Amino acid sequence: MGGSGAQVRAVLVTVGDELLLGQTVDSNAAWLGRELAAMGIPVVRHYTVGDEVAAIQQAVEWGLDAGDLVVVSGGLGPTPDDMTRDAVADLLKRPVHIDAGLLDRLKARFAARGYELPRSNESQAKVPEGAEVLDNEVGTAPGLVFDTERGVVVLLPGPPRELKALFTGHVVRVLRRRFGDALPPVHHRVIHTTGIAESALTEEVESLLPANRGPVRIAYLPDLRGVDLRLTVSGLPEEEARAWLERVETAILPAVRPWRFDASSGDLAEAVLTLLRQRRMSLATAESCTGGLVAKRLTDHAGSSDVFVGGVVAYANELKVSELEVDPGVIERAGAVSEEVASAMAKGVAARLGAEAGIGVTGIAGPGGGTVEKPVGTVWMAAAIEGKVRTRLERFVGGRAAVRERAAQACLALLLRSVETMTEPPG
Ligand code: AMP
Ligand code: MG
Repeated sequence: MGGSGAQVRAVLVTVGDELLLGQTVDSNAAWLGRELAAMGIPVVRHYTVGDEVAAIQQAVEWGLDAGDLVVVSGGLGPTPDDMTRDAVADLLKRPVHIDAGLLDRLKARFAARGYELPRSNESQAKVPEGAEVLDNEVGTAPGLVFDTERGVVVLLPGPPRELKALFTGHVVRVLRRRFGDALPPVHHRVIHTTGIAESALTEEVESLLPANRGPVRIAYLPDLRGVDLRLTVSGLPEEEARAWLERVETAILPAVRPWRFDASSGDLAEAVLTLLRQRRMSLATAESCTGGLVAKRLTDHAGSSDVFVGGVVAYANELKVSELEVDPGVIERAGAVSEEVASAMAKGVAARLGAEAGIGVTGIAGPGGGTVEKPVGTVWMAAAIEGKVRTRLERFVGGRAAVRERAAQACLALLLRSVETMTEPPG
């Protein structure tokens, strides 16, 4: 066991035939690995097993041999192939009983939506003796924590949304309580960027880093929308850690400045809403290839209605003409995917919907429809601000979903940078 001073080590066990068969990518392991490391608990092993009692028990057994903490994901659902709870209870010799309180809470959750608790879900109220129940606010399978002489075993449901909510909402607290003395204090700073590739960003950042970056570790966390940089210092007192983070952040600032945005959710749409709110501007969107994705991104944020007035999904050319006042001659001459059309869409939607700012986006998401001059991934974007327009051409790579996701993000980035440079803060 990780007594005070010794490092706490974790082992992950991910359960599910679909993971072994390659039908589902094991994103839970990657996510848990990062989160645990960020808390100062490195993952030292990871086992993936199918929906099979003996295999689950074997993996947890190995986990307790190698680590102080075993985190198991999957197999807590209501169907017969979900056997993690019973398998682990049996391994740890904890008899299972129905928890009346938990059963009532499950019934109430279903009743609130006008349903009766299905029989199969009743199994989710089964709790092994001595296990701590972690309430699942976004699903039906609760998390379970076993504190044993050999280590702590945490069971979490497989759906990533539920796993993440339970981990951040409960497990972090449980682990701090249990291992607090042995966990190094960890300090982070996250810098969000968009519009620059991971390789280019890494190169620029590394070239600016002070030769002695001291205890600061840098992680590059890319996804389709951009790259987050996470600076971490662990094991140092707050003051000292903060000074190191400050020093490294200042050093790399020139490399990240053009791409950086600030948003507590990490979502660029939030940064756009915040900036427009500050500049007292409203926004409308005209989307073709993204089919409403930009509007969706904006309305994902509660309270966006004070900035975002609405949008038009103008897929057909006729609609671009009738609803957005795009000149049919321009579509004829330049093509629907063109700078002129993106620009007219942005201006047209702002005028039609009475907003100070407009976004226009038109492109070829694929897989068909590409030509030599305009291959799949060609996207024209425009930001209209009080009548003035900025445009941008991108050639995105990836499949249809990736092109659309990247295009929506790039539209938001174009608007953000345009508003930053073309307008002044009020008063
Ligand atoms: P379960 O808790 O086993 O009922 O899992 C329910 C669903 O969660 C599965 O069908 C998968 O879609 C998803 N899931 C389970 N394990 C993982 C994992 N390790 N990574 C990503 N998704 C998962
Ligand atoms: Mg499963």
